[in-house]
Amino acid sequence: ESIFSTMTAKANKLGAINLSQGFPDFDGPQWIQELVTQAMQEGHNQYAPGPGTMELRTSIKSYLNKYYQLNYNENTEVTVTNGATEALFCSSLALINPGDEVILFEPYYDSYMACIKMAGGIPVPVTLYGPDFSLDKAKIEKAFSSKTKAIFLNTPHNPTGKVFNKDELNFLSKLILKHDTYVISDEVYEFLTFDDHNHIPIATLPSMKERTLTISSGGKTFGLTGWKVGWCAAPENLTKSIRMVHQFNTFSVAHPFQLGMAKAIDKLEDHLKEFRPLYLQKRNLFYEGLKSANLNPIPPQGTYFIMCRIPEELNLTDIEYCYELMEKKKVAAIPPSAFYTLDTEEGKKYIRLCFAKNDETLIKAISSLQ
Ligand code: PMP
Ligand code: GLN
Repeated sequence: ESIFSTMTAKANKLGAINLSQGFPDFDGPQWIQELVTQAMQEGHNQYAPGPGTMELRTSIKSYLNKYYQLNYNENTEVTVTNGATEALFCSSLALINPGDEVILFEPYYDSYMACIKMAGGIPVPVTLYGPDFSLDKAKIEKAFSSKTKAIFLNTPHNPTGKVFNKDELNFLSKLILKHDTYVISDEVYEFLTFDDHNHIPIATLPSMKERTLTISSGGKTFGLTGWKVGWCAAPENLTKSIRMVHQFNTFSVAHPFQLGMAKAIDKLEDHLKEFRPLYLQKRNLFYEGLKSANLNPIPPQGTYFIMCRIPEELNLTDIEYCYELMEKKKVAAIPPSAFYTLDTEEGKKYIRLCFAKNDETLIKAISSLQ
């Protein structure tokens, strides 16, 4: 069972405020929900085409072009999947052969490790150290070998909230090109960046589009994680392989949800005018609250998570601390050691909290933690 499911179940059982699993406790926009009802009423209730409806693939192509000047062909280079999770799985099986080495940064999103192992690959973790979680260039350079097939990149990064900057991405892209490898780029928090941090898709860097599988999802951007509508944009040869896995995995994604998501993406600009300030305000409210409660929060540059450093004098591991907070303060967090395999001691120093919650929930959690 994933740590997200475990902590959510425990939080529900104890009646704790659930700041563990990453999902909003408020509903996604009503107008998008109505689009799905409309699609159902119009009779779009049978299988959608395997690669995704043309409406949604065209909307994905358009937003990638509008926001990042990336040009993908909706017929041959865009695939709709059951959330980013399925896109990660299909990309992994499409690309990784048994014995291939695959680099990933820890803390990593848990499904990367599972995907690499299911494909028979050999995980090569590289640890990002707090408080800034920046790249250790020497360590990454050393992680590449003649057996490296791909690297998982996640920016904005869950759980640290780090947004990889141009210099770091340039450095990575040079290594990827030098070693003739690919990048599986998980960008589900692409529109959740704060202050002067901007999301840069690695596919926009010179010569990188041919080697990048760009993955995202409507779950975060529209606050509809339960819809599980995700996608992958990749060059035609890679898309062919991804679709081969997808057709025998889920085959296609819920038809009316795709049609609703297509129209929602077409109105992304209007949506972001409310979405971005809303999350910035929540980030500030929660960060300041955690600071006043002496929880040692590390300000996130993106995502809807905050990592807090456990005070050393407590002498508690992340798991012990999470249980203590859950039992004594009725607040549930994620122990991030579940996202490390190389330097597990580093993972034990933090907890992750999710602020995609109503202000009342956040305020209640803070007052309980104080
Ligand atoms: N990647 C990251 C970094 C995530 O945090 C999540 C979960 N929220 C996913 C992928 C999975 O996305 P989806 O719910 O669209 O499958
Ligand atoms: N992405 C969510 C998180 O980071 C969890 C999704 C899941 O439960 N698999 O909390």
